[in-house]
Amino acid sequence: MPDASDLLPLLKRHWGFERFRPFQAEAVRAVLQHRDSVVVLPTGGGKSLCYQAPAVFMDGLAVIVSPLISLMKDQVDSLQSNGIAAASVNSSNSTGERLNVANDIRSGRLKLLYVSPERLCTERTLSFLEGVKVSFFAIDEAHCISQWGHDFRPEYRMLSLLKERFAGVAVHAYTATATEPVRKDIASQLNLSDPLFHVGSFDRPNLTYRVEPRGDITQQIHDVIGRHKGESGIIYCISRKQTEEIASELTSKGMKALPYHAGLPDVVRAQTQDAFQKEVIDVVVATVAFGMGIDKSNVRFVVHAGSPKSLEHYQQESGRAGRDGLEAECVLHYGPGDFLWWKKVAEEMPPEARGIAKATVKKMEDYCQGVTCRHRALVEYFGQEFEGENCAACDVCLLDLNVTPDALVVAQKILSCVVRLKERFGAGYTAQVLCGSSEQRIVQNGHDKLTTWGLLKDAGTSAVRLWIEQLVSQGYCEKYGDGDYQLLRVTPSGWKVLRGEATPRLLQPPKKKQKKAKRTEAAADLWAGVDQGLFEALRALRREVASERGVPAFVVFDDQSLRDMARRRPTTLEAFLECHGVGEKKQRDFGEAFVGAIVAYCEANKVEADVDSDVAPTPDEENLTKSAARHQAFSYFEHGMPIDQVAERVNRAFSTTRQYLVEFIAHTGRLDAQPWVDEQTQSRVEAAIPGLPQLSLNALNEHFQKAIDYDSLQIVLACWRNRPTAMPK
Ligand code: ADP
Repeated sequence: MPDASDLLPLLKRHWGFERFRPFQAEAVRAVLQHRDSVVVLPTGGGKSLCYQAPAVFMDGLAVIVSPLISLMKDQVDSLQSNGIAAASVNSSNSTGERLNVANDIRSGRLKLLYVSPERLCTERTLSFLEGVKVSFFAIDEAHCISQWGHDFRPEYRMLSLLKERFAGVAVHAYTATATEPVRKDIASQLNLSDPLFHVGSFDRPNLTYRVEPRGDITQQIHDVIGRHKGESGIIYCISRKQTEEIASELTSKGMKALPYHAGLPDVVRAQTQDAFQKEVIDVVVATVAFGMGIDKSNVRFVVHAGSPKSLEHYQQESGRAGRDGLEAECVLHYGPGDFLWWKKVAEEMPPEARGIAKATVKKMEDYCQGVTCRHRALVEYFGQEFEGENCAACDVCLLDLNVTPDALVVAQKILSCVVRLKERFGAGYTAQVLCGSSEQRIVQNGHDKLTTWGLLKDAGTSAVRLWIEQLVSQGYCEKYGDGDYQLLRVTPSGWKVLRGEATPRLLQPPKKKQKKAKRTEAAADLWAGVDQGLFEALRALRREVASERGVPAFVVFDDQSLRDMARRRPTTLEAFLECHGVGEKKQRDFGEAFVGAIVAYCEANKVEADVDSDVAPTPDEENLTKSAARHQAFSYFEHGMPIDQVAERVNRAFSTTRQYLVEFIAHTGRLDAQPWVDEQTQSRVEAAIPGLPQLSLNALNEHFQKAIDYDSLQIVLACWRNRPTAMPK
């Protein structure tokens, strides 16, 4: 039975990649073993390669189900640019084109066919496919089959017939939606038989998350864009009107931006999307209507001008940043009105859905108001554990947030004011009293005589308003009453605060942001050795080439490839092939132009060419996050580096690093423990395993009575567990 490692030569030849990402190897193995599977990886996790590489390797035709023509088109363009025979059939094809595709399938030339679910499930297509060798079916965006997913499409339901009509052909489902009910529903709707569930990590270490209360939103957007001059980004707005206003504001300042929303004619939307993909414009200002069809890999920032209704939506939308694995920034702006609005929407839902919908909004609100690490909050929301204390890639961990030092006293002042107002006034009024307003209404009510009057004068009303909202969202006081004017009252946990038994976390209002946000340490590493001027020159060349060929820019090369070229600066076609993302076809198609540009640049700027850049950039050890350390350790293990050396490089304890190695082995599916354990020791340990009372490290340790060290036992055991016949874990 072939394994993922057997696909490495074709990975290099066609994609120019050295290796599979850890989770891809496992997903690829399921395909090679004809085992039905459900693969969940966040956007940018690299799902496509999980089925594309085996499709090229295996005999026959892989049929890929995709919901949108634009998605199919991008994927087919990318595959063809890598020299792979792929096609799609959809309503935009002429009869002649369809006939050609059918001939290519019959002759066995075509390796991947992209098709929509409704077309696949017509009798005509099904009987045609029954007459040819289908290697497997891959269902992309598989959550569309589930009513519980966020994008239910009834036509996906028809796909349940695949398992009946194509006995023995495996079906694989791919999605970025994490929740367990959805995963199970996908498997049962598709009639999968004993599927392998493969859930990757939901953390996106290359994304830096920031959350800010909404103030002057236009200025806030400018602040973010200022950190990403000339880079691609998406700005999500709450309303169609806002998309138009912000887009025209940006354009008036000389930026290349366009609005996108469902109210625009189809052709305008398609043009905007195209302009974005080809990098004719940098920024799309959109409603959530913009998204699914976008697989542009180098989106460097995603801004939300308002809060989405759930963390699933936020993960999905923010996840469009940094799909190429390079650093990107996601900034979410929220205001109290956002949550009121989403709660109102939830109220209007059928009774059975209402409770869940409201709880979901509350989670979103907690995320915004909270001051726990954003990476941790997101990962834990999706039911996974987050390793480490400091992610070094969010506003909380980077200490961008301004936590109010005397939060307890501030909260007590606010809550006691609410009590003194007999819980019969709203947030605005309470803030005014606390800030010592002498407004007529306040004086008439005699509230200027309260002991709490003017207690927070120095803070200003907008800060006090913000704190009140934070207290509400953390459950220390609540809003009640119908209609527009909601009143405040103290909750039982609020009384605890008044008694000094609980302390809320309060944030200061955002300070005027320093224009230049710190580039995170991990991000700085990814630029190590890159000549920025050359990178920009290559970007311009890519834009030209993409527009000449009428394809999105990333189909030519992604940012990671350009950075690698600007780091290595190859002056021969041979050296060019060494760059990340350069396969044989791209070497032939683009080598001359890109190498030419590199030579010209290096000569003109007296920059050293042909740099030997095989050494991975050395991360700043102080600031390396745990997930980045793990990631980094994996790449050293890939080169067979001993554990103690890796431990030193990633600045982690030996035991932690050994654990990374165990995870690395599990993820890559290795069977051989070399170079970490010699062959003879491995054979000895393996020979003992079948006789153990149970498959565990303790049992092995007892058996060998220290004759073989603990580290070696653990490593061999990890390899053993990768065997298809291994006993249950
Ligand atoms: P998803 O479909 O999960 O959102 P994609 O399949 O679009 O993710 O992959 C995201 C990006 O990662 C793409 O730019 C792709 O070229 C890149 N990528 C995927 N697998 C690898 C790999 N093994 N090595 C390097 N880059 C990869």
